[in-house]
Amino acid sequence: MQTYTEVGSAPTRSRKTIRQRVVIIGGGTGGITVAAQLARKGVHDVAIIEPSTRHYYQPLWTLVGAGVAKAEQSVRDEARYIPKGVRWIQDYAVEIDPEQQLICTRDGVRVQYDFLVVAPGIVSDWDKIEGAAETLGRNGVSTNYAYDLAPKTWEFIQGTKEGVALFTMPNTAESGYTIKCGGAPQKIAYMAADYFRMMGRPVKVIYATAGGLLFGVPEFCTVLQGVCERYGIEVLTKHELIGVDPVRKVARFALKDKPSETREIEFDMLHIGPPQRAPEFVRESPIAHQEGQMVGFVEVDIYTLQHKRYPNVFSLGDAAGLPTSRTGAAVRKQAPVLVNNLIQVMNGKEPTKRYNGYTSCPLVTAYGRMVLAEFDYSNNPTPTVPFIDTCKERFDMWLLKKYGLPWMYWNLMLRGLA
Ligand SMILES: Cc1cc2nc3c(=O)[nH]c(=O)nc-3n(C[C@H](O)[C@H](O)[C@H](O)COP(=O)(O)OP(=O)(O)OC[C@H]3O[C@@H](n4cnc5c(N)ncnc54)[C@H](O)[C@@H]3O)c2cc1C
Repeated sequence: MQTYTEVGSAPTRSRKTIRQRVVIIGGGTGGITVAAQLARKGVHDVAIIEPSTRHYYQPLWTLVGAGVAKAEQSVRDEARYIPKGVRWIQDYAVEIDPEQQLICTRDGVRVQYDFLVVAPGIVSDWDKIEGAAETLGRNGVSTNYAYDLAPKTWEFIQGTKEGVALFTMPNTAESGYTIKCGGAPQKIAYMAADYFRMMGRPVKVIYATAGGLLFGVPEFCTVLQGVCERYGIEVLTKHELIGVDPVRKVARFALKDKPSETREIEFDMLHIGPPQRAPEFVRESPIAHQEGQMVGFVEVDIYTLQHKRYPNVFSLGDAAGLPTSRTGAAVRKQAPVLVNNLIQVMNGKEPTKRYNGYTSCPLVTAYGRMVLAEFDYSNNPTPTVPFIDTCKERFDMWLLKKYGLPWMYWNLMLRGLA
């Protein structure tokens, strides 16, 4: 079973010291992609600190929750993706000292670096929702944001014959908080609504978001409003989930435009989009933003991905302090920029490549339909697929999501080829 809390224990007394020219913290989407690209460019003396023996393709979990993919299809052995010649330190980083250029691990190993890439992803803060952690996976309460819970979402969707299916999106406007793939909490609402429609079940679908809009980019917001109307989904804005009572099957919301008020909504099934933030060892390290909206995330230049105060430190992916939607698609565009700039800095030059905030969210809107939302830091649509209108719901984009993107991830991106 995957655990839902992060490991934040202090390092044991250091016994062993490892020295590496480049150290990457995290062997997930960002860490492996960067390692693979560095290897292809002939950069040696690289190590990855990564505790897990398993590598997850998380975007598949939406389809797992909707019953069209198996959780096992989203996981492979990490060892297969550590590039040849790269050292794998199978351990948790627990402390970063950028002055001493030193990482301490949970097992007490000291890892000395010349250059550091920080990519440990983000963690869900279940404690922010009273009663949630205790009931996840039971009583109709689930999330697609964990490998072993996504199948539960499908179980609960199938088990809902009538009543209310409730889907929530957390408050990402709060300093230090975010959610990866901000579209995922609504994608599963659309799939569930389509399922209930196909089965002819009288289930009311409610999508409750702490934000004020369905989607931040107007072009896609309009399309998604149409999708909600088609299914009769009730959209509640400014509703932040703050508690779950699994016995009464009631969700409690703080109303963002009426600060002293809360509202309770009864549910038969509940899918939670969890509030997420940087891992504790990053939040508490000197490399994190110390204040502001991005507090706790790695303080990098949003274009070069180089740290603002420690020029030998870079970051990408979910843990980086970048004001864009956190996705694997964003990582795919960030990685070549980071690798290029890192090599320039290793050669005593200034970084020149720039990341424009590109991200993409494959919004599945029905069984067999998908809108590909692609945009940048300015929330401008930035379509990359030639000749077709990806702002519309399309069957070919659904095929891309179900088959094309997973293939590309395992065979190209993690191999440093895309
Ligand atoms: C339900 C869901 C749906 C999604 N849908 C999409 C989608 O459709 N399209 C899309 O592009 N993206 C999607 N994403 C987002 C995408 O998976 C992430 O944005 C991407 O994986 C981020 O890469 P990362 O390297 O920053 O983090 P991760 O891939 O999460 O990797 C972080 C790694 O760091 C390791 N780590 C953690 N703590 C430590 C530590 N202390 N020391 C060392 N290593 C550590 C972890 O074990 C992990 O391997 C989705 C995510 C979810 C959960």
